[in-house]
Amino acid sequence: MKTKLSLSLAVAALSCMMGCSRQTTVDDSVVTMATEATFPPYEYRVNDQFAGVDVDISAAIAKALGKTLKVEDMKFDSVIPAVTTGKADWAAAGITVTEDRKESVDFSIPYYRDAAQVIIVPVSSSIADADDLKGKKIGVQSGTTGDTFMTNNYGDPERFDNAAIAISAMQAGRVDAVVIDEAPAKNFVADKADLKILETPLTVEEYAIAVRKGNAKLLETINKVIEEMLEKGEIKALMEKHTKATEVAGEPAA
Ligand code: GLN
Repeated sequence: MKTKLSLSLAVAALSCMMGCSRQTTVDDSVVTMATEATFPPYEYRVNDQFAGVDVDISAAIAKALGKTLKVEDMKFDSVIPAVTTGKADWAAAGITVTEDRKESVDFSIPYYRDAAQVIIVPVSSSIADADDLKGKKIGVQSGTTGDTFMTNNYGDPERFDNAAIAISAMQAGRVDAVVIDEAPAKNFVADKADLKILETPLTVEEYAIAVRKGNAKLLETINKVIEEMLEKGEIKALMEKHTKATEVAGEPAA
């Protein structure tokens, strides 16, 4: 009985080992993109599907690699760690190229050069420019360049998981302004008559795709795809397509 039991345990252990190793084997036909999908027009959800400029660029990269794209949605401050730990092959999330980030990942060539942090305020706000932010409660998305800029120049902001939550907090009067990227800001404000974007941006930034440090082969394919899409005007067209799509998908103006 004892022998039988230990034998079945051994068999179970062996099959688990085989099973487990099979489970952890990376599926070679799939490539994974890490993103934070509440950032239109770059990434957003339509029902159960992911859409957006970054999703379409990533689909083109997957196609060039002959693989199927899997989108992993997570908090923005997890997308770069997802790449460094190998959970994702690349991160595409409207990621601004920064010197700090270059220490943990390699970046592709930029696919968008006119990014900026902007200030959103209620239309009735007395905040008219960056100087007026001093001493005010400012909402940001945690781990973003907006977060870094505010932290470095104005002290700790109020940090939220995503821009939509930060904007709701502002509409509820819990923060005085929200600092986020311009294109998503325009998208969020498009259907909200009670909010406006201040004219002067706080920063000028460029977006690129992040890969694991030293992954030169993948980076080469990504750069080739981006270069071709830029040349053909496809990224500009994607911006227009997704801006229109997310504006249409939004709530009617209040
Ligand atoms: N561009 C900003 C950054 O890289 C914000 C990106 C985002 O919120 N998805 O930090």
